[in-house]
Parts: sequence; C-alpha cells; structure tokens
Amino acid sequence: MTSKNNSEVSIINNKIMGKLWDNLFGVKYILNKNTNELHKTNCNHVYKIREYNKRIVRIKNLTNYFEDNSKLNGCVHCLKEYDDD
Ligand SMILES: [Zn+2]
Repeated sequence: MTSKNNSEVSIINNKIMGKLWDNLFGVKYILNKNTNELHKTNCNHVYKIREYNKRIVRIKNLTNYFEDNSKLNGCVHCLKEYDDD
C-alpha cells in the first residue's frame, strides 16, 4: 500500500471515528459563556467570541439541553429555532 492510500484510509477512518464519537458523546457546539448563547461549530459568529468566553460542549439531544438549561439561548443565525430573544 502506498503512502497516498494510507492517508486516504486515515481520512475515512477519522470521519467514521468522528461520527462514532458524535453518537457516543454528542455533537460539538460552541457555548459563549458570557452571553449563554449556543452556536454550531461552523457558525460565522463563533470567531467573534473571545477565547476565554468560548466553551466546547457536546450535546446529544439539543431540545433536552435547552430545556435543562433555561438561561441558554440559541444563536439567531445558526440555531434560530432555539433563539428566544
Ligand atoms: Zn451561531
């Protein structure tokens, strides 16, 4: 097997592992600790959050998560259905 094939295999493995990880521990989201606003990891607004206000959380069930954390607010851009202001 050439090194090119090896790197292709490892990319595929990483994708599978990523999915498994998401299923086991939940999907990654970014929480702004300052505003209690939750973002998807690919949201444009994540880059505006200061590093010390950023927290990575893993969530299995978003609806339950919002029900359990009443202070939490969804980002108006990426989690509009959970935005309540
Ligand atoms: Zn967002």
